[in-house]
Amino acid sequence: MSKQSIKDSIRNIADFPQKGIQFKDITTALKESAVFHEILDIFADHYKNEKIDYIAGLDARGFIFGGALAYLLNCGFIPVRKAGKLPAEVLSQEYDLEYGTDKIEIHKDAIAAGKRVLIIDDLIATGGTALAAARLVQKTGASVAGFAFMIELSDLHGTDKLKNIAPIFSLITY
Ligand code: AMP
Repeated sequence: MSKQSIKDSIRNIADFPQKGIQFKDITTALKESAVFHEILDIFADHYKNEKIDYIAGLDARGFIFGGALAYLLNCGFIPVRKAGKLPAEVLSQEYDLEYGTDKIEIHKDAIAAGKRVLIIDDLIATGGTALAAARLVQKTGASVAGFAFMIELSDLHGTDKLKNIAPIFSLITY
């Protein structure tokens, strides 16, 4: 399957959740088993020799790819969640949104120092969420081995925030 076929399976919804946003709806891609398989195969192939200890999936669509990829790479999965969702002691990181700030969290004891962590999400826009996740991983003493995204919105230059931290792999670029 070509990357164009994967791209064709993504639905664009204009003005969601607010005016001016072109929302990339991946539910139309995920429901096609051949597309979902291909996405995971490409990610797994890219990282198979990278000695990844953990995949950190970003709440919530990063969990869909993160869990499946952790299985394929035979490594552990760690959820990076929106504030207030994790039950044990957490590390927190605030980050800027277009208006105001948001906060994500990771369990304090989730990762041992020195481990290599791959951060994954469905989409990178401004890069603020992925950068905050990287800071959380670094606070645990672990290192960020890479960033993986199904979709990169290149006009927003989000990867500029991440490129000095670890290599970035985006499957599809708009
Ligand atoms: P950012 O922190 O700006 O890189 O935003 C990334 C997060 O917001 C990801 O978790 C995405 O799922 C979500 N997101 C941002 N922009 C879009 C978009 N145009 N379509 C779908 N999801 C988006």
